[in-house]
Amino acid sequence: MPPDHSSRIAESDVASFLSTSDDAAPLLDVTDLRTHIHTDHGPVRAVDGVSFTVDRGEAVCLVGESGSGKSVTCESLTGIVPSPPAEMVGGSVSFEGTSLHDGDTDLRAVRGDRIGHVFQNPQHALDPVYTVGEQLAEAVTVHRDVSDEAARDRAVELLGRVGIPNPAERVKDYPHEFSGGMRQRVALAIALAADPELLVADEPTTAVDVTVQARLLALLRDLLANGVGLLLVTHDLRVVAELADRVLVMFGGTIVERGPVEAVFERPAHPYTQALFDSYDGFARRPDRPARDDVPEDGCRFRAECPHAIEACSGPNQPPEYAVAGDEDHTASCVYYAEDRPADDLLADARAASPTEAEGDDD
Ligand code: SF4
Repeated sequence: MPPDHSSRIAESDVASFLSTSDDAAPLLDVTDLRTHIHTDHGPVRAVDGVSFTVDRGEAVCLVGESGSGKSVTCESLTGIVPSPPAEMVGGSVSFEGTSLHDGDTDLRAVRGDRIGHVFQNPQHALDPVYTVGEQLAEAVTVHRDVSDEAARDRAVELLGRVGIPNPAERVKDYPHEFSGGMRQRVALAIALAADPELLVADEPTTAVDVTVQARLLALLRDLLANGVGLLLVTHDLRVVAELADRVLVMFGGTIVERGPVEAVFERPAHPYTQALFDSYDGFARRPDRPARDDVPEDGCRFRAECPHAIEACSGPNQPPEYAVAGDEDHTASCVYYAEDRPADDLLADARAASPTEAEGDDD
């Protein structure tokens, strides 16, 4: 049975959204986002007061260990975080100046059309009972009023664009006939089907070899050059170095450091960022640290394992984001960067933890 196209987004819904968009506003504006996950032991603050923007043609990378809140942040933007158990309990998300969570916006008119998502697990995007071509064509026709033939042609084009060899034949295959890395590329092709203005991609280059990764990075750079905004989650610092304009470091559901990629790589200021970069062997990834269940509820979330913790770190709130060495674009949520406290020791540690330094050591 072919896919059901009856769910095609009404053009009036998209037009209604477009009519309220503000070109002067950031492409994506997230303010004080808070998402809780309800468990038998009470709510877990998976995302706890996260704010950031993504502009047109800008790549913003979210880094941090598993469980730091990166994926839940991405899935909260257009309401695809599984609810229950997750619940967005506060904050706002605006796309081109239009609030996405005010109850008036039809998120289906935005999701997949103007904001494309690539999930960490490509199984989320693929249905095992339809061919890859049917699913790609569905992703086109649900947002665009095109003929079935044009949708099929577009499916072949998209599959070729993400580097699947022999795309005209492979569109006839089912997801289980593709490797894990190929399924991930198919998921990326689906996310690009409607030419979104923002791509939210969670680990889009994992499980692919270096040749394919280079091709995917070239594709992402091409999207950026054409004004597409990119919010990227990745553990791969090489990918961050290749693509990112700005880096957001997450720990315990909060952003603990942010800044231009050069500043964060050359001078990782927050003790968690330093520990994270230290856990990499140069740019290569070491195994994940074990998941934590001991993140403090108040004060600095990182203080239980911070080698620099002092009494001021105990609370009651996560420290504000302070400018690092007078650079307002580079901030760290750490009491040492308050004006009255010398941060020389932390900044000395920064040089040792810098992945760019580590790369130089290898030469
Ligand atoms: S605020 Fe305190 S505990 Fe937190 S990272 Fe800074 S020094 Fe460490």
